[in-house]
Amino acid sequence: MAIFSPLVDRLERVHTSLRLSVTDRCNIRCFYCMPESVQFMPRDEILSYEEILRFVRVAARLGINKLRITGGEPLVRSDLPDLIGMLREVPGIEDIALTTNGMLLSESAQALKDAGLQRLNISLDTLDADTFRKISRRDGLERVLEGISTAQKVGFEKLRLNALAIRGVSEGDIVPLGNFARQQDLELRFIEFMPLDAEDNWEMNQVISGSDIREILERAFCRLVPLDSRDRSQPAVDYGFEDGRGRIGFINSVTEPFCSTCNRLRLTAEGQIRNCLFSTVEWDARTLLRSEGNDQDLEKLIRDCVQSKKPGHGIDSDDFQKPARAMYQIGG
Ligand code: SAM
Ligand code: SF4
Repeated sequence: MAIFSPLVDRLERVHTSLRLSVTDRCNIRCFYCMPESVQFMPRDEILSYEEILRFVRVAARLGINKLRITGGEPLVRSDLPDLIGMLREVPGIEDIALTTNGMLLSESAQALKDAGLQRLNISLDTLDADTFRKISRRDGLERVLEGISTAQKVGFEKLRLNALAIRGVSEGDIVPLGNFARQQDLELRFIEFMPLDAEDNWEMNQVISGSDIREILERAFCRLVPLDSRDRSQPAVDYGFEDGRGRIGFINSVTEPFCSTCNRLRLTAEGQIRNCLFSTVEWDARTLLRSEGNDQDLEKLIRDCVQSKKPGHGIDSDDFQKPARAMYQIGG
């Protein structure tokens, strides 16, 4: 019998989490992620559900136990609940989560729940329709809010909002979002703006740090008390409001990188393995999946990718090189 050997890299980081992008397509065009005018990948370049499943079976044998489905917008891919149902059956997979912009959630929340999806993150940067349009270059705030409400009704318990606060665009939304999350009993997470936009407009001075956001929230509501995190590989630092109403997390990827405890791998929609959001190299699983490559070849490819992981993303270093691909092409 083969001896189990986990996915450990040169810095002893044990990889147990996989982000699966199922498409690069999206029904909106957030400026921090996609270009306004975009050429999506031809459909035959995107992995089929069977190919994704085979990859996940191999990865699960190497210790991957947590999946997050993302994109592009994962809910624009047809029959996504079928994929979730199949992934649930893979031995070793314990947790499946999804990140969505919420635009199609009203229609699909029940089917996602029935398929066995455990956790749902919904991206929402603003409660103002004009700001929503400015960010996403589309209308749709009402649909997202309906989606959140439907997800609550069908019984998703671990619902989380992901928000990006960007200087000059959405700093005025921090407090209203905090208020909304407290009222609706939703967890809220602020993610720092990273240099992964498609149009190369990112500037450090647009990043509102997690610690600045924390101060803004404390001034508006009450003290935020750090919560104990059992899982050191979790990128967020979590706080609870002192009055017991609400929980806020901060993913300070730019100002306080958490690379030293990163346990994540990524598979892009067209089957390239990445060991970091900011990786400039990819490992081609699709060619193996579509050729005579066997599971041992796939396993070796995954291990090679993990072994090559760098200590950190290096955004703050002088020789930082932005990846050629933007967030929607990688899978956030
Ligand atoms: N379309 C889905 C959504 O928006 O939730 C899933 C894919 S999206 C790329 C995943 C997450 O990445 C979203 O929460 C989005 O706000 C975040 N994101 C996109 N571009 C980003 C950037 N440049 N910096 C930080 N987060 C970003
Ligand atoms: Fe689409 Fe999500 Fe990117 Fe916005 S962040 S453009 S919703 S993939």
